[in-house]
Amino acid sequence: MNSIDEKLQPVLNTVIHRNAGELEFHQAVREVLESLGRVISKRPEFAEDALIERICEPERQIIFRVPWIDDQGDVQINRGFRVHFNSALGPYKGGLRFHPSVNIGIIKFLGFEQIFKNALTGLPIGGGKGGSDFDPKGRSDGEIMRFCQSFMIELHRHIGEYTDVPAGDIGVGGREIGYMFGMYKRLTNRYEAAVLTGKGLSYGGSRARTEATGFGSAYFVERMLGTRATSFDGKRCVVSGSGNVAIYAMQKILAFGGVIAACSDSDGYVVDEAGIDLALVKEIKEVRRGRISEYARVKGAGCHYIKGGSIWDVPCDVAMPSATQNELTGHDAKTLIANGVIAVGEGANMPCTPDAVQIFRNSGVLFAPGKAANAGGVATSALEMQQNASRDSWSFEETEQRLATIMHNIHDACAETAKEYGAPGDYVLGANISGFVRVAEAMRALGVV
Ligand code: NDP
Repeated sequence: MNSIDEKLQPVLNTVIHRNAGELEFHQAVREVLESLGRVISKRPEFAEDALIERICEPERQIIFRVPWIDDQGDVQINRGFRVHFNSALGPYKGGLRFHPSVNIGIIKFLGFEQIFKNALTGLPIGGGKGGSDFDPKGRSDGEIMRFCQSFMIELHRHIGEYTDVPAGDIGVGGREIGYMFGMYKRLTNRYEAAVLTGKGLSYGGSRARTEATGFGSAYFVERMLGTRATSFDGKRCVVSGSGNVAIYAMQKILAFGGVIAACSDSDGYVVDEAGIDLALVKEIKEVRRGRISEYARVKGAGCHYIKGGSIWDVPCDVAMPSATQNELTGHDAKTLIANGVIAVGEGANMPCTPDAVQIFRNSGVLFAPGKAANAGGVATSALEMQQNASRDSWSFEETEQRLATIMHNIHDACAETAKEYGAPGDYVLGANISGFVRVAEAMRALGVV
């Protein structure tokens, strides 16, 4: 199950050779190639014209200097990135990440995943990703604005409604999108609303976009639990992170009747035996921009904070890793299984290491890969583009209903594809194959470009 077809091994070798040191990118490519052996035996035309080699090579990679002035008047320099990975299905689409760990390999892994995720939504969007090694933590509003403006002074040359439509990701939320859109508008003298998504409601944003990734991952997992005649109702859940994806995954899990036992940030995790109080998490994270340790200080009895450590030591029925890549290891997977986990849904991109994924798949735990489970964010971004194009604005209920339908369709496509390719219940295989087939069919039709 986890070996690469001999015809595809040279493709991986080339990727490793050509992108030396970009370990997360190698990991993301390997995981997709492991699923494609079954496709090329059934549909050998997809192995022609170096189609798979082409899909692994970005159409364009842009790296640029971002100079800006901090509150002390000192000049700071960061590095900006945008990778245009694949535009067979539509304009490049994918978020911007501001985090000190960002480098070209991280952006390429995210951009590569994005191709298949976007294809799974069934919407006309290609794959791209970008960001910077800028660390927003501890920066004033003024510093954030000056950084975003400088970043856009270069980025604006490479994006556009029909070219490339960025959105948020780690470290980039509504505030940052607003500053970037403002500078784009000034530079181009165009009110081109569909050039960025995740905008505020006052200037062309979509209702339910903020909630979409987290809500979508909960919709996916609820449907997946349904295949075993169960649901979130009464389940004890652990959600890592306390950012955009984690907060809205928790909100929807609570609406489905689940209980949240623990959540985290990059410093540690908090366990509340009475169930996490989401209003307090939102107050700390969205309003005060504080640390999750404050939760335990406010709550007191029945609640404890562990600095460092692994949130996956907390026993649960459903685990939703929703913070960052490679945050759940093989060791953590074994601990979760020993503690009785029945389902794992990746809210983040590639949060489970390859050995963790393998352990879950071999053990019969329901496992939803990020490229399917967290596709609700980009799907709702595409709905934001539709509303911008038609100068329309839908209600929260209508937008959420469309999101729910898209997530159910993605779930069912993954499940049916896995069955068709002889691996029922294997959502990793189902997601990789069904995303790939849609892109590959378009690429064949477009010729060698
Ligand atoms: P946010 O910046 O809103 O939140 C990230 C959360 O993860 C924070 O709680 C952060 O803690 C924590 N975190 C970040 N890095 C680490 C780390 N190295 N170790 C432990 N915790 C960490 O980001 P999002 O919620 O938007 O994104 C989370 C994940 O979901 C990412 O993988 C992203 O690519 C993916 N995703 C996001 C989408 C979106 O629409 N936003 C769409 C699809 C996928 P701290 O505050 O301490 O940094």
